[in-house]
Amino acid sequence: MKGPEDAAASTKFWADKGCTSFKMYMHATRADLAAVVREAHARHLKVTGHLCAINYREAAEIGIDNLEHGFMASSDFLAGKAADACDYPAAHQALQRLPAGSPAMADLIKYLISKNVALTSTLPVFEPYTGREVVLGGGLSALIPQLQARETATWQANQGKDTASVALFKKEQGWEKQFYDAGGLLVAGTDPTGAGRTIAGYANRRQVELLVEGGFTPLQAIKICTLNGAKYLGRDREIGTIEAGKRADLVLINGDPEKDIHQLRQMEIVFKQGVGFDSPKLFESMKEKVGLN
Ligand SMILES: [Zn+2]
Repeated sequence: MKGPEDAAASTKFWADKGCTSFKMYMHATRADLAAVVREAHARHLKVTGHLCAINYREAAEIGIDNLEHGFMASSDFLAGKAADACDYPAAHQALQRLPAGSPAMADLIKYLISKNVALTSTLPVFEPYTGREVVLGGGLSALIPQLQARETATWQANQGKDTASVALFKKEQGWEKQFYDAGGLLVAGTDPTGAGRTIAGYANRRQVELLVEGGFTPLQAIKICTLNGAKYLGRDREIGTIEAGKRADLVLINGDPEKDIHQLRQMEIVFKQGVGFDSPKLFESMKEKVGLN
């Protein structure tokens, strides 16, 4: 985008084409966001952001509906940050220095909730290497052999060497829980733009496990990944829970995820729009396919 006029024009253009939500990216300015929010909200459409140049407090003030990547894209704790300028490494270091129980974070959380801003957790893309899976959610075998080798080598090289990432990841899990406990609408997703360990489907179930690792009960984690997303999208009358009158898109698990969230991986059948899909067969058919051109 070349500034707020262009941002407004792009929003109108894509809204007219049927686009239902907008995501502001790292270099967007406050004026860009204000223009997009104005155009989108006039059409009852929502605006989210993976921010950097705009901090979370500013975005909430302008009227953003959701923030992506938990607090990992927050530049609010970078002292002396220049307005409308993105310095990602500095913002990231500021988060690394921020104590887990920071009053400034508690204050930001309170402000976001007062402005009805939802937060999207994308924990898999930030998951550290040490002592964890090579590809999250059991997805290693889905990669083509060359990528299996590459990811395994990267994973091996990082064992025991990612302590900073381990520490920040733990704090991030805690901040997301804090946001939820304070009454915030926490939703969940994944993000394929990381190091290559986040594969659709596999990473989605890993997301649920990582919420549980962060202190949520299995039921809360499942709700965050289902009903809360439906609520955010304004579709909770139609989807999000198993209820008479709602769409019967269901996952049949051969196990008890309430006892052990990892049993979520024991998927038998996925029902979508009245058709049941054989999950083990689907997973089998995906072996060594991801990464093919
Ligand atoms: Zn993003």
